[in-house]
Amino acid sequence: MARKPLMAGNWKMNLDHVEATGLVQKLAWTLKDKGYDESKSEAAVLVPFTDIRTVQTLIEADRLPIAFGAQDVSTQESGAYTGEISAPMLAKLNCSYVAVGHSERRQYHGEDDATVNAKAKKVIEHGMTPIICVGEGLDIRQAGNQVQYTLDQVKGALDGISAAQVANLVIAYEPVWAIGTGEVATPEDAQEVCGAIREEIGKLYDAPTAEAVRIQYGGSVKAKNVGELMAKPDVDGALVGGASLDPEEFAGIVRFYE
Ligand code: PEP
Repeated sequence: MARKPLMAGNWKMNLDHVEATGLVQKLAWTLKDKGYDESKSEAAVLVPFTDIRTVQTLIEADRLPIAFGAQDVSTQESGAYTGEISAPMLAKLNCSYVAVGHSERRQYHGEDDATVNAKAKKVIEHGMTPIICVGEGLDIRQAGNQVQYTLDQVKGALDGISAAQVANLVIAYEPVWAIGTGEVATPEDAQEVCGAIREEIGKLYDAPTAEAVRIQYGGSVKAKNVGELMAKPDVDGALVGGASLDPEEFAGIVRFYE
């Protein structure tokens, strides 16, 4: 079965719940105005925790063609973990997606592959889809080790997750040097690593699982460069930071197929 591209906007720590309402309304309006074809891509927004309830209410009340989710989750189910947000709490808010292991979590909060793996398992256990973020820093790329480095992250993140579960999750290949820098990877760079991830999943699991898993590219994606990235066979969507804060721009990314 063909993989439906997922265009997910990661708002990061931007927009309070009032601003979130404005952005979702503008995004929905722009998509409708331009004749968005939902069969060709899936649109999602990953919003700050404090925005989720508001975004959920708006999307569900108006039946907007936009999925929503969170940018992180606790490894724990419940209890004495001050400041944490659990997977059951996100599931109760009808979140579809939860990003885990974003490079900013790895860099500023010391998350390692074992933590990312525990988070991904919690998300799956509660019926949501993890978007598992992987990707190399500049030093690794300059040394030419981007494929091996990223595959090791993938293996660590998927430890103990079944083939059926892997088939339904999303992996975002995000080279750290391309995130928020304006320096997008070439389509060939993106394909090299996304293709290697799919091949590795074929080896770790089986061919149908590798065919089913969606692999996004992320790093300075814009409406003007998304088409050439999406033309690559193993790129199944985009994880978008900065450009997802501009509804016109993000709508252009969602409608990459035009
Ligand atoms: C991201 O935050 O995952 C990201 C890819 O950011 P940007 O699109 O701004 O590079």
